[in-house]
Amino acid sequence: MTQPALDLVIAALERIRQKDDRAPRASRTALALLEATPVATSPTETDSSSTERLLQASNRAALLTAVRERVSACAKCAHLACSRTQTVFGVGNPDADLMFIGEAPGADEDQQGEPFVGRAGQLLTRILKAMNFAREDVYIANILKCRPDMPAGSFGNRPPTPTEMQTCRPFLVEQIDIIEPSVLVALGAVAVEGLLGTRGAMRDLRGRWHAYNKIPLMITYHPAYLLRNQAPSEKRKVWEDMLQVMERLERPISERQRNYFL
Ligand code: URA
Repeated sequence: MTQPALDLVIAALERIRQKDDRAPRASRTALALLEATPVATSPTETDSSSTERLLQASNRAALLTAVRERVSACAKCAHLACSRTQTVFGVGNPDADLMFIGEAPGADEDQQGEPFVGRAGQLLTRILKAMNFAREDVYIANILKCRPDMPAGSFGNRPPTPTEMQTCRPFLVEQIDIIEPSVLVALGAVAVEGLLGTRGAMRDLRGRWHAYNKIPLMITYHPAYLLRNQAPSEKRKVWEDMLQVMERLERPISERQRNYFL
């Protein structure tokens, strides 16, 4: 016997609504997709919690897809909509416990449509690996979804302006609301400014817990800073921040991991 996936979803969403103080949400697109999807039934009491887990994940993926579509059509910053190759939404697990927030796409990210794929991104991927995470386990996004434009013929990147960050921030807020990570990591002072609206010196901000909407937030140096400053002491600072993140997530930490860069 088959039954539209929507029926299962509605039953599971109702259970989630009764348990959580947050009302579960589903986009029209997600509902239409589910209505058209028959699934083999019938679920028993024992598999209802795994159904709920699947639903949480597929619901989050569908919700993120809907935001991604709005982002790719966004032209609120006309100058960026003209100069970008494409928008760079975010990548990773919609169900991630850990979410990283960077500044804005650079040239490589603008070309490939994925955050943190250039040199700084490769370093971030190595940091994740040292933490025993793959890129697919976490979620990675930026404050800005477009590459900040550069004068014709010039190289490098410029930081986003406060107005660009304010304009784009609601998309990031939606991403965080959907993913509901247990821990956020802001990479660098610009990410902190975009997320919290506060400016500060990284040496004062990093290495301790802050909060964004009650979600624990660790602030650490941007990987691009580590590429500019290769001193082991700076690498160790970032690593200590990541050890705090792993502890908060109750991830096992080996002796070898504790001793990196000492
Ligand atoms: N730097 C960022 O902050 N974000 C990227 O996606 C790439 C580099």
